[in-house]
Amino acid sequence: MRAYLDIRYIAFKAGLWFAAHMVESEQDVALEDTDRIEGRSALVNNTNATLALASAVRSTLGPRGSDKMLVDENGEIVVTNDGVTVLETAKVEHPTANLLIATSSAQDRIARDGTTTSVLLTAELLRNALELSRIGVHPTIIINGYQIAAEESLSQLDEIARDASDEDLMAATATTMAGKIDTTLAETMTGLALEAARTLENEEGGDDLERIRVKRLKMTGGVAADSEIIHGLMLRKQRLDFTTDGHSNGGKIAIIDGGLENRELELDAQIEIRSTGVLSGFQERKSAKLAEQVASLSSLGVDLICVRDGIADEATPLLKEAGITAYRRFEREDLERLSILTNAKMVRDVNRISADDVGDYSKRSADKIDDAWHVRIDGGRGAMTALLRGTTPIMREEVNRAFDDALGVAFRLVREPKVLPGGGGTQTHLARHLRSFATTQKGREQLAIEGFADALEVIPRVLAENAGLDPIDEILALSAAQAEHGAWYGLDAMSGEKSDMGDSGIQDPLFVARQALTGATEAAITVLRIDDVLWAHVEPKTPDWSNQIDDD
Ligand code: ADP
Ligand code: MG
Repeated sequence: MRAYLDIRYIAFKAGLWFAAHMVESEQDVALEDTDRIEGRSALVNNTNATLALASAVRSTLGPRGSDKMLVDENGEIVVTNDGVTVLETAKVEHPTANLLIATSSAQDRIARDGTTTSVLLTAELLRNALELSRIGVHPTIIINGYQIAAEESLSQLDEIARDASDEDLMAATATTMAGKIDTTLAETMTGLALEAARTLENEEGGDDLERIRVKRLKMTGGVAADSEIIHGLMLRKQRLDFTTDGHSNGGKIAIIDGGLENRELELDAQIEIRSTGVLSGFQERKSAKLAEQVASLSSLGVDLICVRDGIADEATPLLKEAGITAYRRFEREDLERLSILTNAKMVRDVNRISADDVGDYSKRSADKIDDAWHVRIDGGRGAMTALLRGTTPIMREEVNRAFDDALGVAFRLVREPKVLPGGGGTQTHLARHLRSFATTQKGREQLAIEGFADALEVIPRVLAENAGLDPIDEILALSAAQAEHGAWYGLDAMSGEKSDMGDSGIQDPLFVARQALTGATEAAITVLRIDDVLWAHVEPKTPDWSNQIDDD
């Protein structure tokens, strides 16, 4: 089974030659179980798969998009308005469909928004390519034309994008959440996300930096609007020994990436006990070892330790004696956040700890909140905690999702503060521009560039459709409005008016539009290059619907 899947994947990636080679050398039997689709049929088949998948997310686009209810194989129910969630939950067998899912996942990873847009665009590019190939335009020409059109579009995006004011940053972040949560909550989340994003503005790291640096803690008291960012780490945790200090206005911290116990010694001891039966000697040695460790912490002025694993019982009085407050059993990510916050290094071996490894915190506290102990450690550096509140678990989950969306976009936006008109304005402008640009290009590529322009209009079309408006009328009206007022005119899907998207606060970040455009073009071109698909027979699977109505 695995082998068939691999073959299918490779066939789709690299075409007939490689696949045939694989089949020959590895799995003769596989070919018997493999259908083959060649030439234009491959394109037809791949395009249909893409269109089918796109139709699954089409109705979620925009502020008036509807929600989808998904039931996974364990019967868990997710209600979502998010394209990438729909696609990632779908169990899809078609290789091209999987490529599309990968495209939308990449969009999510890189831009955190625009997943539905990229899928719709890919599908439409393929639909138009298929039309062109029907009238005799060769895929190579289509690919060429698409590449030219994408490049021209990217430079147009830079033309019409504007430098974002503070107001624009808020508008663009709020637009991300349009249709997913109510406007008041979106405002709260926008404020929090931008506050956190600005704190991280100059920090270095990968695509996930904002998720790593900002811990989310769901709190039971209060309503969503009471959510806040604290510039420290807060955890639901109680200290090892209540007689040690819970509060301090600054001090030194050590982070131990392991335990404060002596595992090897315990193993030695078992042997020793069996052979000599001396228990007390072992206990003494163990205590002595721990005492050494605590002494080395104490000699460095440490008054707070955070230990990933356990702490031996014998260590408790020693720590108290040394004036050290201890917390244990941490998630690794939390220790990483603490390390950034306090500049303490994570040490594995307490015996080898040096002054360099020790960090400093500016304040710490231990308080009972909503019946649970919480520790809060503040430091001067780039890690935070978002205290997310809501009255019910479902509400808190929603607040968490909204915050994640908002933070992802805000984080990228403060690094690249450029915005574009939303509401289909950007795509309408590109389509209009490409149509006149096409006439400057040679021969058949012109047709492909026009096909690209038509594909872009899927965005205003679907926004209109989902708002219950007539898509043809809206596209014509929007195009006319742009002829008069320029590229920033778009469709406000809430009111149905065509207006300046800057004034209406409906703005999309440049990086979202850019990634959607390049991702969709690349995906479409990848599919256009395939002229042969080996299709393994896969046993159909029936989903298990038995416990879908579990309610919690
Ligand atoms: P995606 O997964 O592509 O981000 P969304 O469902 O989030 O899909 O929809 C994003 C699109 O909705 C963008 O093109 C954005 O400009 C548009 N949009 C957001 N708010 C409005 C609005 N009030 N009126 C019209 N379009 C809007
Ligand atoms: Mg979106």
